[in-house]
Amino acid sequence: MGQNRYREINLPGEMVNILTDWYAQSAKDYVWRQDTDPYRVWLSEIMLQQTRAETVIPYYIRFLNDLPTIQSLAEAEEGKLMKLWEGLGYYRRIRNMQHAAQIILQEYGGVFPSDPKAIRSLPGIGEYTTGAIASICFDLPIPAVDGNVLRVIARVVGLSASVDAPQTKEAVRVALEKIYPAAGSGRCGAFTQSLMEIGQTFCIPNGAPTCERCPLHKNCRAHALGEEASYPVRIPKKEKKEVDISVFVIACENKILLCRRPLKGLLGGMWSLPNREMHMNENEVYRWFAPVGERLLSVEDMGQHIHVFTHIRWKMHGFSISFENASSVDCSKVANLFETEEFVWATPREIAEDYALPSAFRKIWDCTHGRSV
Ligand code: SF4
Repeated sequence: MGQNRYREINLPGEMVNILTDWYAQSAKDYVWRQDTDPYRVWLSEIMLQQTRAETVIPYYIRFLNDLPTIQSLAEAEEGKLMKLWEGLGYYRRIRNMQHAAQIILQEYGGVFPSDPKAIRSLPGIGEYTTGAIASICFDLPIPAVDGNVLRVIARVVGLSASVDAPQTKEAVRVALEKIYPAAGSGRCGAFTQSLMEIGQTFCIPNGAPTCERCPLHKNCRAHALGEEASYPVRIPKKEKKEVDISVFVIACENKILLCRRPLKGLLGGMWSLPNREMHMNENEVYRWFAPVGERLLSVEDMGQHIHVFTHIRWKMHGFSISFENASSVDCSKVANLFETEEFVWATPREIAEDYALPSAFRKIWDCTHGRSV
């Protein structure tokens, strides 16, 4: 360990033939691999950024059924878009996609650009997604380096530098660029996807990699040394910030109160169950709701639920609140309590069909879902 620190990385050139041959024979038949239409590849890459392939498949199919073209995405209503994305999380991704689709419509006549610089300039498309689209859709020798690819390369060369350092990522990108198949060879996309798939299937992050099935096992330094578990080298992650949240399912005449979150910040612009960033017990909840209406009927403790975001861990405490009827609740007072201008009373059916509720709030909602409200 030590000799490869931020130095040039040399990859075995035979990797390309080994991986593209393996890919031609053994690649998984994912639905997004059925053609190289940039819209479809783009959608799959964005969905796959934070989510496992098996989870993405039904979302991907449903999304394309409803919004089959760049134009339909550009013109989709926000509510419909959020509903199609509900459960995938990181909603900024779909907002960026729509913004990018609008730009493609206005500036490129609705045709996805093939120039990597133009691709990279679109909202929500970073270096990785540019490489994926450029190589898969336009057969260009542009690497797509994500965590999976970094892990594979770190093990193949026995990389002692941390894969969390930007310099390492850049060194890996440069090393891959040197061995990529030529533009127009018909193999750039296969090379990109084979590397991703090796990282997802054999060279896995947690647990032992299944090296005996990996096509790179004869070219892999970590495997030759029996040191697979020593790579990739990582910088220890910071502890996630833990935040207490009290979340309320407020029911009134079979309708539930939803509030819209401020546009900026976590889950910006999403519909949510009303909540407060603090721990509350049942008595405090009773007292806090007192100004809303005199006829507060009951507060039921629904227990604690954890939801983990990238940098934050929400410790959510759920409460079910029931009023006698909607007219006994002063809606403007409710709005004041939750510091929101936008709120709506929605039926459980509307919540299921029309409102995209982020997964964090679904955990609380699911405790009451299906039972009489
Ligand atoms: S041989 Fe093992 S450690 Fe090396 S790339 Fe393949 S799965 Fe990863």
